[in-house]
Amino acid sequence: MNPNVVSEEYMELQKQLSVHQKQLCNSIVLSMDFTIRREDLNAGLPVLSQLKYTPVPAGLYLMAVKKVETVLISHQYELKEELNRLTTNLTEEDVYSWIKHAITFNTEYFQGLAEKKQLSPWLPQFLAEHALRPFMQGVAVLSQSFINEFDVMGTCPCCGEPHRLAKLASNEQKYLCCSRCETQWKQHKVSCVHCGDDRKGNLFYISILEDNRAKIEVCRTCNNYLKLITMIDQTEVKSAALLDLETLHLDFVAQEEGFGKDI
Ligand SMILES: [Zn+2]
Ligand SMILES: [Zn+2]
Repeated sequence: MNPNVVSEEYMELQKQLSVHQKQLCNSIVLSMDFTIRREDLNAGLPVLSQLKYTPVPAGLYLMAVKKVETVLISHQYELKEELNRLTTNLTEEDVYSWIKHAITFNTEYFQGLAEKKQLSPWLPQFLAEHALRPFMQGVAVLSQSFINEFDVMGTCPCCGEPHRLAKLASNEQKYLCCSRCETQWKQHKVSCVHCGDDRKGNLFYISILEDNRAKIEVCRTCNNYLKLITMIDQTEVKSAALLDLETLHLDFVAQEEGFGKDI
């Protein structure tokens, strides 16, 4: 399995993971023994980076790792042996390292782990990241009541993930949605979500012939782009993580045209 190729099989796995993550998120929120208070936070920085307590308790995280592992094995049984090698005898220290490096999306750390344990290079980070998402989603739920007051340059106001995707309502209002924590955030003004340039005419749009509900917003200043999806029934309830994967063709188009942060 190669997570870079979005096959039907891979989408099915993601759908299953998304359902389990939502369930885990609900129970995590119920068991979290702290609240997130707007008055303790600076609205110009992501909520996650300002928390005084970890929103990812090690014991619960390990439970989430095991859940993702079970889903992966039920989906692709041949991963069982590799996953066993990865998760058997995890020490407390390992779990803390996983949490730390998953939060900072430290690809190098997880690739090192894959090499050390002779595993598929994508597997450790895939597992660690998907186990983390219910907690990120939990932070988003606890921040929901005030997140629209936040304005963090270039990233999700909740978890700090760069912007990739927005849903467009019928009144052209743009809702940025984060595929990592599922925060949905109403954009305050017409400007580039990456660099903030709000000069008239700075943004331009690429339409997609085969997909009339999608377009790509590009910024002339920073050369970065945002995928825009017009909301219709299902789109509104679909998780941002799934929508992001379903619209990978837009990323290919944008990147082929030379747009994007890493180009
Ligand atoms: Zn986020
Ligand atoms: Zn820009």
